[in-house]
Amino acid sequence: MIAPMSISETEAGPGDGAGIEAGGQRTARPFRPLGALLGGLADLVLPPVCIVCRTRIGSHGLLCGGCWARIDFIAPPICARLGIPLPYDPRASGGNEPCLSAAAIAQPPVYDRARAAAHCSSTMRDLIQSFKYRDRHEGLPLFARWLASAGAPLLADAELLVPVPLYRSRLWSRRFNQSAMLAHGLAALTGLKVDCFVLKRVKRTASQVGLSAKERRRNVAGAFRIARGRADQIKGKRIVVIDDVITTGATADACARTLKRAGAARVDVLALARAADPTALVVIATGKHQVNGRLTNGCNHRSPKQPNSA
Ligand SMILES: [Zn+2]
Repeated sequence: MIAPMSISETEAGPGDGAGIEAGGQRTARPFRPLGALLGGLADLVLPPVCIVCRTRIGSHGLLCGGCWARIDFIAPPICARLGIPLPYDPRASGGNEPCLSAAAIAQPPVYDRARAAAHCSSTMRDLIQSFKYRDRHEGLPLFARWLASAGAPLLADAELLVPVPLYRSRLWSRRFNQSAMLAHGLAALTGLKVDCFVLKRVKRTASQVGLSAKERRRNVAGAFRIARGRADQIKGKRIVVIDDVITTGATADACARTLKRAGAARVDVLALARAADPTALVVIATGKHQVNGRLTNGCNHRSPKQPNSA
């Protein structure tokens, strides 16, 4: 679940030592160590700016208030399986069972659970594209905190983080794997191990942009393999696959299928953003569901549109 964060929390950030208190005001310190003084000098040369719009702000690697307000964080209630938001929480009327969206019932994913920090709003898309394609990595610590918050239930007893791998030619041209960077940022916060080599992309897949859900599934079919001699390292493990964006879930499913076939006990997926139509939802309580029929627990909110992708 994502803990609500205020602007001041983004500016203060856990453990960043920015000297900004909850109200957003700088605290007076009797003594500033040399590092802080050097940091102040560096700020004069390269003043901290919003990582989206480049407006001057108080600390590096953060967002200004305006851009922060345009990040559409995914908040409960959410589908227990897909992590997409639900229009209301049926448990508020007394039930205790986690709820699933109709999409999760109609087409259950191969992975066990997915969580993402935010929707793919235009601001979030700008952030991720700058991170991936324009080498703007100063937001990584902030992204790691968002992942840790959104993925808390997945990470609680996880044993291994596995980033979605790039095909070698794409890795060569981009020079880094953004999912691996996110995994390492998250590992620095959580202490979890990262394995960037256990899962390999063995097929040069076409860009998923513009493809339908079916085309995306076909595109990534057979794209992943377990690296030779590494299967023992994932057998029986609870794994969290790290990606930058979950769109239809086709890539996440392909990774999960490969890891589970090799013996992983559980495969969850955690991403910065999730592209989903928030209006395409039907709330269904587990154990009492019918996808197209009358629901038996009062969870009968139905939107005008039916879900067509995860
Ligand atoms: Zn901004």
